[in-house]
Amino acid sequence: MSEFAIIQEYFSTIQQLDNPAVALGIGDDAAILNIPKGQQLVVSTDTMNIGRHFPENAPAEAIAYRAVATAVSDLAAMAAKPLGFTLSLSLTDVDQHWLQQFSKGLLKASTAFKIPLVGGDTTRGPLSIAVQVMGCVSVGDAVRRSGAQLGDDIYVSNYLGDAALALPLVLGEKSYQQDDAFLSKQFYYPEPQLELGLTLKGIASSMIDISDGLLSDLGHICKLSDCQAQLDENSIPVSPYLTKHLSSKEALTLALTGGDDYQLCFTAAKEQAEQIKAIEKRLATPLSKVGEVVEGSGVYCLDEQGKAIEFKHSGFNHFR
Ligand code: ADP
Ligand code: MG
Repeated sequence: MSEFAIIQEYFSTIQQLDNPAVALGIGDDAAILNIPKGQQLVVSTDTMNIGRHFPENAPAEAIAYRAVATAVSDLAAMAAKPLGFTLSLSLTDVDQHWLQQFSKGLLKASTAFKIPLVGGDTTRGPLSIAVQVMGCVSVGDAVRRSGAQLGDDIYVSNYLGDAALALPLVLGEKSYQQDDAFLSKQFYYPEPQLELGLTLKGIASSMIDISDGLLSDLGHICKLSDCQAQLDENSIPVSPYLTKHLSSKEALTLALTGGDDYQLCFTAAKEQAEQIKAIEKRLATPLSKVGEVVEGSGVYCLDEQGKAIEFKHSGFNHFR
């Protein structure tokens, strides 16, 4: 099967040619996207390598979905609306069944997040998937990591830790019996918080998606906003699945330091508390107030006595 036949068969079908953002999709030297007047282009890339980001035997449909979902999560964290994405794919060989499943996962994600595939590159090499997402936001409205202010509240969406709990499961090292299906879905089919991100425009002072763990990712906000985060042990939205399968200390540790949940962490002025309650209700998305922005640096989680809890690692880091 030629490179062109592969593109035709498995990728050109995911273009959403009726999408108003796409002036020209797959097939030319480059794609052309329409950016609405008064908006800025928001761009982010994520690469997934075999053996590093997913196991050798991971289902192709799931890998594709996860690759797009995690990239889209970066748009959510900027309060941007998806415009389109490109896909750089390295394949060791042409396995039509694998490609078919992969294409199915792409289509699912593309449809779910209303983001068309507009181009890419297909080469031979160790399996690697690079997704570049493009989105748009009104000029000046993107929510950055650098906007947290002293006295702001810190919030987290939904629950933390499921994906980290699922890791040994997807690596085939462990089983959680009747919870296996749910947990593996949490890992492979993360739900980027697009609607929440968009809704928080003008409300959140800073925002980040949690890919490496809350302590680590909130640390990026603190660094760029020049502040400290104090978390309250009892307000962390630890997933009930962690509490079920781990000791309470292990559960808290994994919720704070485990990655791959792709929930949003954001800060907001105290005056926004009512608004945020209303958003929580309207979107039916739990938003937990987990702590406060104070003077200083770094991220601390305090126990009931107000003492900082120590953790061995704060989160995932490729080059540690
Ligand atoms: P060029 O040599 O000009 O870079 P290619 O032969 O690489 O063109 O690609 C032809 C067309 O197919 C381009 O529009 C490109 O964006 C698209 N394309 C190639 N690989 C992919 C892919 N994996 N997913 C989506 N589109 C792709
Ligand atoms: Mg090319």
